[in-house]
Amino acid sequence: MAVSKKSGILFFMNRRLLMTSIVLGASGAAFFPSRRAVGADLPHLDVKDPAAVAQGYAEDAALVDQKKYPKFVKGSSCDNCLLLQGKEGESYRPCDLFPGKSVSAKGWCNGWSAEI
Ligand code: SF4
Repeated sequence: MAVSKKSGILFFMNRRLLMTSIVLGASGAAFFPSRRAVGADLPHLDVKDPAAVAQGYAEDAALVDQKKYPKFVKGSSCDNCLLLQGKEGESYRPCDLFPGKSVSAKGWCNGWSAEI
């Protein structure tokens, strides 16, 4: 199959554009931090979200029904949970159990795990 000079140039230009896009994309990732790590930007987990309901998430650990969640230990909260991520002192932070959402540092859910 013969390739015309014009289509050969287009192929070369498309390949060049593709390589430029890959290089720019890789360097851009190095300059801009992952959004996952920025808790303040994440939407707050709604207590009515099915995933939150399934884990008994409460925005305030003081509101946890201890009969319904016997695992609850007085004094436990998201703030002292192993799964809480993000910056210390922020009122809402990412949680490994609820990707893409932030949870209240004063909150609690049945997935609570003591910090080591
Ligand atoms: Fe809070 Fe831990 Fe439950 Fe995440 S897993 S919502 S940090 S108690």
